[in-house]
Amino acid sequence: MTTRKLFQEDVYKKECTCTIIDVLGTGTPEDPFLLVLDETVFFPEGGGQPCDLGTIENIPLIDVFEKEGVVYHCLQSFQIGVTTDTILHTKDWKTGDKVHCRLDWERRFEHMQRHCGEHILSGIFFRECGGVNRGFHMGSDYMTIDIDVQGITREDAQRIELLANEAIWADLPVSVRYFEDRQEAEKLPLRKALVIDEDISIVCVGDESNPADCVACCGTHPGTSGQVGLLKILKLENYKGMTRVYFKAGREAFEDYRNKHDILTELNLKYSSDDNDLTDKIRTQDEKNKEARQELYLMKNILKNKAVADILNAYEASMAVTESEGISVTEPMLLIREYSYFHADDLIAITKTLTEVNKKDTRLFVLISTRDNTVILASSSGSLDCGKIVKDNAKVWRGKGGGSAGSARALFPSRDDLECFVTFIKQAYC
Ligand SMILES: [Zn+2]
Repeated sequence: MTTRKLFQEDVYKKECTCTIIDVLGTGTPEDPFLLVLDETVFFPEGGGQPCDLGTIENIPLIDVFEKEGVVYHCLQSFQIGVTTDTILHTKDWKTGDKVHCRLDWERRFEHMQRHCGEHILSGIFFRECGGVNRGFHMGSDYMTIDIDVQGITREDAQRIELLANEAIWADLPVSVRYFEDRQEAEKLPLRKALVIDEDISIVCVGDESNPADCVACCGTHPGTSGQVGLLKILKLENYKGMTRVYFKAGREAFEDYRNKHDILTELNLKYSSDDNDLTDKIRTQDEKNKEARQELYLMKNILKNKAVADILNAYEASMAVTESEGISVTEPMLLIREYSYFHADDLIAITKTLTEVNKKDTRLFVLISTRDNTVILASSSGSLDCGKIVKDNAKVWRGKGGGSAGSARALFPSRDDLECFVTFIKQAYC
């Protein structure tokens, strides 16, 4: 005995009291209860539309599916309470009992809006460019249809999007007609050839003489196209010789508009602009940023060159041990300098110049970035292995890093750790 599908008779029916015909399963997650009812308001999954959810006797449904005309309502035993007070409720479902079913209407209506939006968009693509929808995906964030025409342009899509919205605003009737066999059904202006021979339901949006869509479908649809509300194409993509169209319809399109409006409002506040001059103001700001970055680059290079010159001058003067403000030179082996404005990468560039200038220089350069809590070690002569020094010792003060014999870096979690490591270097290589 097949299940009477109340949603086919009245798609707006939100609850019903019906009789249990059969009970399968034990209610565990592995073997949930499957209730068969004499009639149901719950649409099982089909035609790309997800199944309805809701409650039976206030117990939430986890799935609804159909096999050979029988609709199965999937439920688990459920738990309420927390920790030690958790109580397991095992509903005693019995054949012949009357049960009250309540549909999650918000979910269903959203599915109807999205699904009907897909009908209208597919129907108008077919009418305007002969493209047939070969694949439909209803995701949680957006929907896609694959139109079997290659290279649909943005302009074409925008024109079709407007026509689809005009069909929505025209509030066209959405009719569903049922046919016993295909002969009568095939007299309608179908978008796609029929693939079934009996129990055929044909959905038509608008007048059958010039429909916004006309196709076989088993899903649920609103009574008029106006209830779709809004449809928006998001993007187009080439897909296996077809065009994949990403779009939203109904409540999700409205929510998307609201989110995007919020983003736009925030950007307008940030750039002191309105919707009309926002892009100009962003472009101007980008140009200013680019100029500032170039200036920064030049200034940094001047500072780096100055740092190299200072160190080389210090080398000249270092035959005698010298100490001057901000410089600690302990020649000939060790040169330590500390910078608050250079990043570790800047210091690497400085040591690269230094070690290239004088290959015979036997000193160990120790350059410190207090900004990054990083120490850079560099040596040009190869008499010391910088990578090994870091590898063997940085970890003592929670440092991480490494490098080659000529250059290595050690990053520390705190300034104190860094200081300890530098003190160690001073003592070991002075
Ligand atoms: Zn449909």
